[in-house]
Amino acid sequence: MDYPQQFDVIVIGGGHAGTEACLAAARMGCRTLLLTHSVDTLGQMSCNPAIGGIGKSHLVKEVDALGGAMARATDRAGIQFRVLNARKGPAVRATRAQADRVLYRNAIREMLEQQPNLSIFQQAVDDLLIENGRVAGAVTQMGLRFRAPTVVLTTGTFLGGKIHIGLENSAGGRAGDAPAIKLAERLRELPFRVERLKTGTPPRIDARSVDFSNLEEQWGDTPLPVMSFLGSVEEHPEQRCCWITYTNERTHEIIRGGLDRSPMYSGVIEGVGPRYCPSVEDKIHRFADKSSHQVFIEPEGLNSTELYPNGISTSLPFDVQYELVRSIAGFENAHITRPGYAIEYDFFDPRDLTYSLETKAVPGLYFAGQINGTTGYEEAAAQGLLAGLNAALAVRGEEAWCPRRDEAYIGVLVDDLITMGTLEPYRMFTSRAEYRLLLREDNADLRLTEQGRKLGLVDDTRWARFEAKREDIASESARLASTFVHPQTAEASQLEVKLTKPLTREYSLADLLKRPELEYADIAGLKGEPLADSQAAEQVQIQAKYAGYIDRQQDEIDRLRRYEHTLLPADLDYNGVDGLSNEVKQKLGDARPETLARASRIPGVTPAAVSLLLIYLKKRG
Ligand code: FAD
Repeated sequence: MDYPQQFDVIVIGGGHAGTEACLAAARMGCRTLLLTHSVDTLGQMSCNPAIGGIGKSHLVKEVDALGGAMARATDRAGIQFRVLNARKGPAVRATRAQADRVLYRNAIREMLEQQPNLSIFQQAVDDLLIENGRVAGAVTQMGLRFRAPTVVLTTGTFLGGKIHIGLENSAGGRAGDAPAIKLAERLRELPFRVERLKTGTPPRIDARSVDFSNLEEQWGDTPLPVMSFLGSVEEHPEQRCCWITYTNERTHEIIRGGLDRSPMYSGVIEGVGPRYCPSVEDKIHRFADKSSHQVFIEPEGLNSTELYPNGISTSLPFDVQYELVRSIAGFENAHITRPGYAIEYDFFDPRDLTYSLETKAVPGLYFAGQINGTTGYEEAAAQGLLAGLNAALAVRGEEAWCPRRDEAYIGVLVDDLITMGTLEPYRMFTSRAEYRLLLREDNADLRLTEQGRKLGLVDDTRWARFEAKREDIASESARLASTFVHPQTAEASQLEVKLTKPLTREYSLADLLKRPELEYADIAGLKGEPLADSQAAEQVQIQAKYAGYIDRQQDEIDRLRRYEHTLLPADLDYNGVDGLSNEVKQKLGDARPETLARASRIPGVTPAAVSLLLIYLKKRG
């Protein structure tokens, strides 16, 4: 049967990509439908109940700046908050929250259920409707046909999912959930390049069986950080402690003894796993000289006795898991509540997508999340938001929007995927962004909220808060630049204890703030009232202290931006470009970048190669 109602955007999958995608499309006024296996698993964290961390919090805050849900849900569900790299520069600082997985799911579900223009329907999707070469909707397991001109597919690890524990394997989308087999088969009929990847998770431990007496405690930060630009500490539930323990020689011996029954080492698993989130057997194998690895013990929730031992993800047989867990300090009598496992799944080569995340082969069909070869909730959420908003723009007949690499980590993520593809699960790092001093987590709203407002993603409450903050930053920066402290005055002597060199002439407060020994709090109240908004005050300080570096990076961006408009013909024969190395010729031939700027970002394409291309283009006329 055809469902009687027509939609503008259909999103398939209620994970981290899917929820942001359908919320974005609905916020933009589209009649949106979310089709998912189960309403009870909306926003489910398949693995570690934690959001953020280095590179990842940048994405979360960008999603937040564009009106998304992830940061707001984290503030309501976080049971431990920390700022990582707090003593390093602001570019690499990152907020991380341990979340109560039930509270997180509830927060996401509540946001979905309260979102106008959004309907939810629980059922597996088995097929896509494709008419005249375009997507036209989706067909569920019971043959129900839902119609829409755009469909966003966010099926995570479920396509052809296969779960491995030792040499045993079974079909599954993740533990406890059925895989998507029919849809995977249908997608394989379409002209997409499909490959296999794998990821894994550790066994969970019952806290009642753990001896905490000798374990290192790890508490969250004080003052408590927040994740969302709209977040407040008052929203946070009760805060909890985590612990640290270590693997040891005995653990490693047990693991080595089980490798012959490891699906990874016996060749049963063909998919490539995440290099930066390796299984414990991978770590023992790759870093054979290390006698110990850290294990963070993280609570799964306020009302759960389950613990997540972060660092011992494994797909070894259960008897080996049991032994290895019990060899670790604190876990001598540990009871495992769920075995660790690995999962293999289909992903699609993201080079078959455009920048809006629309597939090149089937107009109107978008892919977002793990299906594109990424790993992580945050990477998924960022893509989901982008695909959802671009589906909505397509429905409105407007041009797609994708942030550039110098505007957002979302831009870096998509550009990396589209131009290079990926051979292993892709995760975000700050090192992937060449303009990371501009793309900080603290200024994601200043970079993106105005754009989000234009797109229709940002509501009045967020917009009012943002405008007030932006105004505070501008007026306070102007005040500091025009307020002076003179030597031998009361204000100067107030500063003396902090200064490494006494003042010998008058200085503006803005210039004083550039000194490494002074903070905003030291100078703002010397003459006049400091800002009450700590987020705005932080911006004033960062903008003053890093002004020189920020300006330099901006100049470089302006220079490179010229190349954004230098088009490279689709039929360009790179073998005919004099002076290019064979490696560069091959990379350019494979990636076929649309502009010279994109060519310049392909790893291995040097500034010299870019100059050669420029000369070639000029000659060609
Ligand atoms: P998912 O969160 O998987 O959501 C997919 C959604 O689509 C689900 O709601 C599902 O029910 C629904 N769905 C699928 N097929 C259909 C269909 N045919 N019809 C209707 N609904 C459908 N990430 C890390 O960063 N680090 C890790 O260590 C890590 N380990 C992991 C270990 C395991 C075992 C698993 C399963 C995942 C792990 N991840 C890890 C990955 C992380 O869970 C994903 O990156 C993230 O959840 C991807 O979000 P997503 O929205 O793309 O997909």
